[in-house]
Amino acid sequence: MTFAELLAEVSTAVGGQPQARWVIDEVTSGHWSPSEDASAVAASARAMASQVSSGQPLQYVLGHWAFRNLDLLVDERALIPRPETEFVVERALQVFSKGQRSKATCVDLGTGSGAIACSLSTELRSVLPEVYVLGVDLSSDALELAALNVVRTGAEVELLQGSWWESVPSALQGSVDLVISNPPYVTEDEYATLDETVLREPKMALVGAVSSEGILGFAPYESIVRQAPRFLSSGAVMAFECAPPQVEALRVLCEPLGEVTTIVDLAGRDRGVIVECPW
Ligand code: GLN
Repeated sequence: MTFAELLAEVSTAVGGQPQARWVIDEVTSGHWSPSEDASAVAASARAMASQVSSGQPLQYVLGHWAFRNLDLLVDERALIPRPETEFVVERALQVFSKGQRSKATCVDLGTGSGAIACSLSTELRSVLPEVYVLGVDLSSDALELAALNVVRTGAEVELLQGSWWESVPSALQGSVDLVISNPPYVTEDEYATLDETVLREPKMALVGAVSSEGILGFAPYESIVRQAPRFLSSGAVMAFECAPPQVEALRVLCEPLGEVTTIVDLAGRDRGVIVECPW
């Protein structure tokens, strides 16, 4: 079997050539050699392709996925890290690095796979002498995966189980410099319309409850923002990912805390907000 033949077969099974390349790269470690035992490679590729064609997300089948500079383990225990979240981290770090800082005490609320927390640790420690990162999640499954990713990436991240700020130690009051959160924000109605592959991800990582003011999928932001002030240092930065229709309400919620900027993604869609608290 030639590479082209295998690529054609797997492409049909997984619904596209780029996805097929990911699968074949995975089973060949990125190097197809004509002398290789093509039938063993093809069998492994077919096994992966059949999982994808049965609705399993490609990322879960591969078992790992890139997020910024990192290669993270991904599985059913947590949301698959997404490009929009990479962009939120990018913008948050740009804004954060404008300040004259000697330390970064960071909290990732709803850390899931640990993607944001591990990125903050590995990226900030090369520029700041004192970096502390706490990742919080309600899901013990997600925290198990996050712990594996902390080890895998060499990050230094403390992980705690709890709902938003609930388990964040009181010792951190007044000292948190950077908060990033990609909370669940999909509405129940939207959830019913999502692709089958997205439904394989944990529902609790996707669907946000209705806020006290009746805003759909918005309850997590309400909890996070209302309880943030006692933890924040002066000059703290907060960054949140949200769905485009939630940006206005999120801006209003955050305005009492500082200067609010909308995060506009590369496709021109409003995908979150950044809050810069006064010094
Ligand atoms: N961006 C994800 C999606 O639309 C949602 C992520 C989240 O709820 N935090 O599938």
